[in-house]
Amino acid sequence: FSPADQVLDSSPDPSLKDGKAHYSVNSIKSMVEQKVLTKRQRSQLHWLVKDLQILEDDIKRYGWNNLTVSEREEISLKRELLKLLNETGKDYAENGDTSGFKMQDEVASKKQLLTAKLRNKTDRVNWEEEQMKKSVIKADADEIKVKDSDNYEFVFDPESMIDFTDDTTDILEPVEDGRLAEALEEQINKMKSIKETRKSLPVYQYRQEILDSIRQHQILIVVGETGSGKTTQLPQFLVEDGYTNDGKCVVCTQPRRVAATSIASRVADEMDVILGKEVGYNIRFDDRTTPDKTILKYTTDGMLLREFLNDPQLSSYSAIMIDEAHERTLSTDILLGLLRGILQDRKDLRLIISSATMNATKFSKFFFDCPIFNVPGRRFPVDIHYTLQPEGNYINAAITTIFQIHTTQKLPGDILVFLTGQEEIESMQTKLLEILSKLDNTKFPDLLVVPIYANLPQEQQSKIFEPTPKNCRKVVLATNIAETSLTIDGIKFVVDPGFVKEQSYSGGVSKLVTVPCSRASVDQRAGRAGRLGPGKCFRLFTKWSYYNELEKVPKPEILRTKLNQVVLLLLSLGINDLLHFPMLDKPKTIQLSEALENLYAIGALNSRGAITKVGQVMCDFPCDPEYAKVIYSSVFEESCNGVLPEIVTIVSMLQESNSIFVPGLNSEEKTKLFGSLMQSSDHMLYLWIYEQWEENGYSRRWCQDFKLQHKTMKRVLRIRQQLWKYCRKQDFLLKHDQNLTQLKENMPRSVIEAKIIKCFISGFPTNIAKLSKQGYTNIKQDLSVSVHPSSVIFNRMKQEGKPMKYILYQSLMLTSKEFIRDCITFDKYEWLTETMPHIYK
Ligand code: ADP
Ligand code: MG
Repeated sequence: FSPADQVLDSSPDPSLKDGKAHYSVNSIKSMVEQKVLTKRQRSQLHWLVKDLQILEDDIKRYGWNNLTVSEREEISLKRELLKLLNETGKDYAENGDTSGFKMQDEVASKKQLLTAKLRNKTDRVNWEEEQMKKSVIKADADEIKVKDSDNYEFVFDPESMIDFTDDTTDILEPVEDGRLAEALEEQINKMKSIKETRKSLPVYQYRQEILDSIRQHQILIVVGETGSGKTTQLPQFLVEDGYTNDGKCVVCTQPRRVAATSIASRVADEMDVILGKEVGYNIRFDDRTTPDKTILKYTTDGMLLREFLNDPQLSSYSAIMIDEAHERTLSTDILLGLLRGILQDRKDLRLIISSATMNATKFSKFFFDCPIFNVPGRRFPVDIHYTLQPEGNYINAAITTIFQIHTTQKLPGDILVFLTGQEEIESMQTKLLEILSKLDNTKFPDLLVVPIYANLPQEQQSKIFEPTPKNCRKVVLATNIAETSLTIDGIKFVVDPGFVKEQSYSGGVSKLVTVPCSRASVDQRAGRAGRLGPGKCFRLFTKWSYYNELEKVPKPEILRTKLNQVVLLLLSLGINDLLHFPMLDKPKTIQLSEALENLYAIGALNSRGAITKVGQVMCDFPCDPEYAKVIYSSVFEESCNGVLPEIVTIVSMLQESNSIFVPGLNSEEKTKLFGSLMQSSDHMLYLWIYEQWEENGYSRRWCQDFKLQHKTMKRVLRIRQQLWKYCRKQDFLLKHDQNLTQLKENMPRSVIEAKIIKCFISGFPTNIAKLSKQGYTNIKQDLSVSVHPSSVIFNRMKQEGKPMKYILYQSLMLTSKEFIRDCITFDKYEWLTETMPHIYK
């Protein structure tokens, strides 16, 4: 039994393979295609198959033993249902009966039988749970309750219960005695070293004092050197001190997804529990917590902000730690403002604000002069080296510096390089490996290159924390994440080009720009070299520039970004007086009024400034409001309805668009792979890719053939799943089915594409470039833009003589030029006036 393989494998009929498999995606698909089912049933079935795949994926990722009993049961029920669907479906097709879905009765009677059986089984289940608790791998015992069981027509076959136990024994492979002892010792050593590390952290010495201060004061600010243990230890202290005894939870926010997941996993290790149970994380599209079980949760600041929508008092928490507050992300700032408001009503709630050593007094003033706890840190001296002249190409300069260090400095001593993003990191990694392959490896030690950035799959993230092997040097290529959020032990050298990528917004145009860091940031970066012992920092800019060109501190995000989403959120929380909402730094009035205008333009607010139905949908959807609008339009806008599944697919793909292809795939190679599709647009290519992948049974091999990252595609599947769930919740599917009945069933591709474009116009009415004499310029602002070479459109413009009049793009990035990415083209101005009459006349 290897469920995930069966589902993900595209082989023709696995049911023949070992007599164990009862279903295959393809056979279910063929049944769907034979159209014996109604449209709604088909869409439910699609949903089910995908849902199951995700669950099967989870088994692969976390191991059967790490699922709760109820999760296991859900999986097994779904498997059984698929089996049943498969069998009855086939009968159906053979009989040629198209009158409907006759299974209901059969399912219902089986279900009845099952409930009775299940009751008798409780004793046995308890016994199994006891056994699982005793086993070496910690398994979990949950109440026997099948999620959503009332909504589904589930079937439970007693056989599957036996499968569970089989799996358990399968995974606990027989280990020879010697190996077992070894494994145990390894585990014990790991635990020991974790314990020792915990005790050696600076915050450990102040444990009691900190806890006393928290008991005494409702709000406490904790400042300390990076790496002193704030993020990993403070929440644990709170748990140990009883803050979670009455069923409440401790939560700690992080500005970055990677930090939330990686720290949660570290803390789960430290507490010796399974990640996702007592300790979990919650980031967008990936919730690893268990209700009623998780007592310590790491989450992104944005996700905690969303929780206000369902629970404005955040009543499930006893203590909230806003970590990395010095980063001043938009979500953190708004969170602080909202928390300030609820603390009076929730006297039992504790708020800890933790920050690297900047800004502390500002936070204290904002929170009624609350006390600041300073954890004395230790930091060894770091020698700072500057370049004599400004460096034109900092990537090359960084590479040279890395090899300079590597070939002249003694081991041990790892290198940390600060770069601005995934793309830069990937390209530097390729270059470094290329040079290394030519280097005489008898003369120099090995150099291990490890990247870390937001989209890096979790399995690879943990690599940066693995101890560097002997006679080897590690070079970590990191984004800003390594500045304060993550601490990597063993770093002795820092290479700092002094740049950071930031969101900026002006004149209605939002873009990512690479800008020089602030002095506070580069000092923080240098500090990373001095944790172990004296270190060195190589700054790839001049001393003059440090003193004369760099800003003192980073500009808070709230002052340089689009406020649409936040304003919508505040309005929907009933906070209408935006000007007097408490904030550390108040945005300018014009920023707020621009946000209101934008929200009105995309239909989220009516002319009186009240939230509309669309606006509410935008709030509820777990994606940016603009994308929610696109999805909404695909169901409710007359000119573009009927394309919901396509839109949800494209939107899901766009969430991950920068890691869909394998790194370094250039436009020529893409043309070879995708042929005439390269004459289309990024959106349509993404749609094609997803649909084909689905068609090919979500196969890994298929991804390899097309140079796609299977891991990313699986993430897309998961995202699509969740968006689809929201569509279901909002009854979009029902409306969509009605639309389809009204429309002709088979729309030609060109009609579908036109509808897709209009949907995107409705969400991104100002992300449009028009053709002019100077090339493409933004339609609202005189800003000339170029199509990024990674876009399909780039290729197409090169080949076709005749460029398209309008390009709608998803992102604008300023590097050497203003590049637009993820583009789709059209040439009818009427589409703008028709879809967005508020803005275009
Ligand atoms: P702070 O929040 O004060 O910057 P942290 O709590 O993040 O400090 O880190 C404390 C220590 O925990 C670090 O010095 C590092 O040694 C260790 N640590 C943190 N995360 C991991 C991890 N994922 N793997 C191994 N060690 C880790
Ligand atoms: Mg921290």
